[in-house]
Amino acid sequence: MTFLHNSVVNDKPSIASQLTQVRQHITQAAVAAGREPDSVRLLAVSKTFGADAVIEAVQAGQTAFGENYIQEGVEKIQALRQWLAEPAQSGQAALEWHCIGPIQSNKTRWVAENFDWVQSVDRLKIAQRLSEQRPADLPPLQICLQVNIDGGANKSGVSPEDAMALAQAVAKLPRLVLRGLMAIPEPAPDEASARAVHERTSALLAQINAAGGLPQPMDTLSMGMSADLAPAIAAGSTMVRVGTAIFGGRG
Ligand SMILES: *Cc1c(COP(=O)(O)O)cnc(C)c1O
Repeated sequence: MTFLHNSVVNDKPSIASQLTQVRQHITQAAVAAGREPDSVRLLAVSKTFGADAVIEAVQAGQTAFGENYIQEGVEKIQALRQWLAEPAQSGQAALEWHCIGPIQSNKTRWVAENFDWVQSVDRLKIAQRLSEQRPADLPPLQICLQVNIDGGANKSGVSPEDAMALAQAVAKLPRLVLRGLMAIPEPAPDEASARAVHERTSALLAQINAAGGLPQPMDTLSMGMSADLAPAIAAGSTMVRVGTAIFGGRG
């Protein structure tokens, strides 16, 4: 039994090989949609996995990581900062950390001091605190508004109706740069309906950009996860957030 168990563990595909597959999947979906594969970025969602898993992904060329839980994320960011400071990592490109989980007011300082992007802003008060608390020696925080595109009752996210006003208010905050919209629709029964929901997020971004009132148009549509990469890319996603397909199941 022990032998069988070990062989199953050893058969687990490596993070490097999973990353290669996900990148191929992104390229195929982009080509099928008539888009440049480089127009879609891959955010590796490392929530619940340790710093060792992130290091494995970095060694396979991944540089952008998403975290849902603030404390866990900050611990990993700090662990990776120490690892990057070792002489052996001297040629390594910088990492980019995205906060993609719910943020309570009492956690904004940690977020402002440690992350590069925040994709889960859904109310002005959180944005104001992030702007006030962003340290002066760091570049502005890159922001996406989380939109509750399919109206799930218990879901976070600004409603599509309120998104324009929030975008215009967030764009005025001095230490933030508004980059785009992020959405987490409910799982869809098939690719066509998944795509249709993602297209509503694309249309909302286009509508807000067209209305003006922003210092620069938003350029980021963060949508698509392990299960709905292809329909999200067909609908115009510029950043897919992938956890399971890279790191495995979260148990
Ligand atoms: C967990 C999570 C993901 C990744 O989901 P997978 O299905 O594991 O790819 C992406 N975005 C957000 C906001 C998440 O919470």
